[in-house]
Amino acid sequence: AGHVLEVEDLWVKYYTMSGVVHAVSGVSFKLRRGEMLAVVGESGSGKSTLAYALMNMVPKPGKIVRGRVLLGGVDLLTLMTEELRKVRGSRISIVFQDPFTTLDPLRRVVDQFTEFLMEHGLDKATALRVAREYTEAVGLPERVLESYPHQLSGGQKQRVAIAMAISLSPEVVIADEPTTALDVIVQKQIMDLIDDVRRKYKSSFILITHDLALALERADTVMVMYGGYVMEYADKSELVRDMRHPYTRALLESLPRLGQRGLPSFLPGYPPDLRNPPSGCVFHPRCPLAREKCRAEQPQLVEVSKGHYVACHYAGVVK
Ligand code: ATP
Ligand code: MG
Repeated sequence: AGHVLEVEDLWVKYYTMSGVVHAVSGVSFKLRRGEMLAVVGESGSGKSTLAYALMNMVPKPGKIVRGRVLLGGVDLLTLMTEELRKVRGSRISIVFQDPFTTLDPLRRVVDQFTEFLMEHGLDKATALRVAREYTEAVGLPERVLESYPHQLSGGQKQRVAIAMAISLSPEVVIADEPTTALDVIVQKQIMDLIDDVRRKYKSSFILITHDLALALERADTVMVMYGGYVMEYADKSELVRDMRHPYTRALLESLPRLGQRGLPSFLPGYPPDLRNPPSGCVFHPRCPLAREKCRAEQPQLVEVSKGHYVACHYAGVVK
């Protein structure tokens, strides 16, 4: 009880000319009201595909082959186009890395914002009032509404995208690498803004990032993905206290640390080709602890302590 979003055994594949890409494999999690979940992993680990699947908008040639995405008990994967259109943006919304995915650079912000709201049933006057209110809520001056997106800075555009994403009070906001394209100072401002709106509007956030440090700084819970699978999933504090998966540890060790001499260690090798994933544990070719069992048998995600899940044959012993 008390969960706004429940994802059950989600599988997504891309059917390409050169083979089937196993992009998201058996992902399950639950999101509480107001929670910030960070989904962390290297490039190609399936983070964006997961985000699209949660919105039931996986692009071709991708297909959700299995699973449920329950938002307030309703499975988004069973909704018809028209019902989905209503839900997207109003009950679950997304902020992309590149705000031009949301915003047409050549149309005034106010026109796009009010049009979005009117598509969700607001009349023109109300739409204008809501657009003004949320523009202010994300710390932008009202004149930004009269601008064209191409006249705005990266940070301003991302604020507009966030304003639109929260303007219909969705239960869940997904942010896919929302600060990756921004410089460090603006990154912090945007993350602070996301924290503020999360507290003020009590919406739940799914923050998608390749940056474990950002996840540990900002999130309540962290889900680590590799090769389309969940490797480890826990409350942030539990994860910091008792990090189990060798991949999570490798991510942590690859972070630069204050006062550290020399370069941080990094994980050798490359992420797997998901058209032809490795046998057994998808991480075994890069894992410093891999043994025969890891090549042969895929580890299940098991609860090693309350709310702390790990998919590793040796998670119990890699202390
Ligand atoms: P990044 O950090 O680079 O954004 P990601 O974790 O978001 O990576 P995805 O974009 O979800 O990863 O990709 C997961 C897998 O699916 C990768 O192997 C990728 O090559 C593949 N993939 C993604 N989009 C498509 C597509 N449109 N067609 C075919 N394969 C795709
Ligand atoms: Mg991505």
